[in-house]
Amino acid sequence: MAARGVAKQVWALGACVAVLLALLAALTGCAAGAGHSAFGSSSAPAGTAPAANVRATVQVTGLSFSRVSRTQIALTWLDALDAEVASYRVLRADAAADVDADASWACVAEVVSDGAATGAAHTVVDELVDDALRQYRYRVDAEVLEPDAHRAEPGEAILASNALICVDPGHFAGANEVDDPAAPYCEGDFTLELARALADDLRRTCGIEVRLTRSTGDIAIDGYANGALDGGHIALRGELAAGCDLFLSLHTNANLDNANGCPTFEQPLGITKPVVIANTCAAASPAALEVANAVGEELAAASAQAGIATCAEFDTVAGAGELRAWSDAYNDEVNVPGTVYVRLRDDGASDYYGVLRGAAEVGVPGFIIEHGFHTVPAMRERTATGDLAGTWAAADARGIARGLGFVCENGGR
Ligand SMILES: [Zn+2]
Repeated sequence: MAARGVAKQVWALGACVAVLLALLAALTGCAAGAGHSAFGSSSAPAGTAPAANVRATVQVTGLSFSRVSRTQIALTWLDALDAEVASYRVLRADAAADVDADASWACVAEVVSDGAATGAAHTVVDELVDDALRQYRYRVDAEVLEPDAHRAEPGEAILASNALICVDPGHFAGANEVDDPAAPYCEGDFTLELARALADDLRRTCGIEVRLTRSTGDIAIDGYANGALDGGHIALRGELAAGCDLFLSLHTNANLDNANGCPTFEQPLGITKPVVIANTCAAASPAALEVANAVGEELAAASAQAGIATCAEFDTVAGAGELRAWSDAYNDEVNVPGTVYVRLRDDGASDYYGVLRGAAEVGVPGFIIEHGFHTVPAMRERTATGDLAGTWAAADARGIARGLGFVCENGGR
């Protein structure tokens, strides 16, 4: 349901460009330093306001954001209150600031109401001072037309940022199927469920916008589809990250045949560990590695808590020098923490995995995230009977937010 609500708001933004243009004429800068509470209540003439408990409350809810660019965040809300409201103020606070303190909030813009609720949307674009990654809380406060009849409450606040993350649900529908009647599983189906949940969590709880490489079972880029984009042309998936701040390809892991003396698809719980593979661009970025570390830590803890792993720890890396080179032996080892890897082609300079190479070619730090092993029966069972996609998506979102130095609501979900 939450995802549908977001989609509706985005639609409202796109459909109301004409209204936006009309409203721009009414848009003015607003005086700095005025607190929201003074704004919300000061327009009542002294001695004329009746008791507060007979006035209807007016509050702007349903505020949504759109990351326009690294220097622009658009805020949109419907005009449903226009008949009661004289004007609106868009207020902004640092995400980590005390939201209850008036001093935390600065005015971004003022919008004059046209007095009629028509189902249109108001939109304001916040112009940021530079392109550094940042996260804010926004809210819209109303000044009522008739203080005798209405009382303005501070608007509902949302988190928003100028970050944009490209999420790639690994493979395509039907790919990497485990034919197990007791615990059937298909990686290409599960990664889409996981990516959708992650996109929703990032937007809704962290204020981070997401671009998906595919939003259905199929993927198509530049005339190629599904199998071709899981093989010879897979780099195109990574290239879709152009203009994003981070690229994440979501997967579940597998092991060599009959690893650990067990049948291939009946591996012990102990093999489960998050494995994060960095591209060359990410390996050179301490900021990107912070995200990999935090995601790994959150996933390790979440999998242990879910009862599908024996190790809750993750070996973080302090810099490129601590990145481990990929090995099958470590991938298949049991009861060891996951960590961050690099895996290069024989040239020793470019990424082994085409999807990561594609992201590096467009200058975007990228990671493959192997969340757990679908060769463990208990993991497959959790995908069928539990909310493992939700658990892992929430862990990913918490890690991404923490790695970026952002906060998220409700710890992620
Ligand atoms: Zn995979």
